[in-house]
Amino acid sequence: MRAFSGTSFYEFLGENKLMGSRCQSCGALHVPPRPICPACYGEEMVWEEMSGQGQLLAFTVVHIAPTAMIEAGYSRKNPYCAGIVRLAEGPAISAQILGVDPVKPKEIEIGTPLTVTFVQRGEGEQARTYLAFERD
Ligand SMILES: [Zn+2]
Repeated sequence: MRAFSGTSFYEFLGENKLMGSRCQSCGALHVPPRPICPACYGEEMVWEEMSGQGQLLAFTVVHIAPTAMIEAGYSRKNPYCAGIVRLAEGPAISAQILGVDPVKPKEIEIGTPLTVTFVQRGEGEQARTYLAFERD
């Protein structure tokens, strides 16, 4: 059984799985997972795999990218869309949004249906899987 932590959340992403933790005391669902439930302080969690379906809740176009995204080719001239996605299961999570045009933010609509996708970046020991959502 993997620990309910951000680290194991990323391990699951590497297996193309979007996982949350379900509190056994109150039923609250947390994505990314949490070892202790913020609603009832319960510590009994079980893993639950998300369907990967969601809707765009909010977004921003990022022109000044963090290092990993600069290495992925994003820049002031090639911005990307970062968003908050409301999962079909309820929780909201931040992720890169693909399939939209960051140069035309006015055409990006709140409520757009999205599906999870797993993006591999980096090589060798730097290789990591990033969470992204793509327009349906
Ligand atoms: Zn709880």
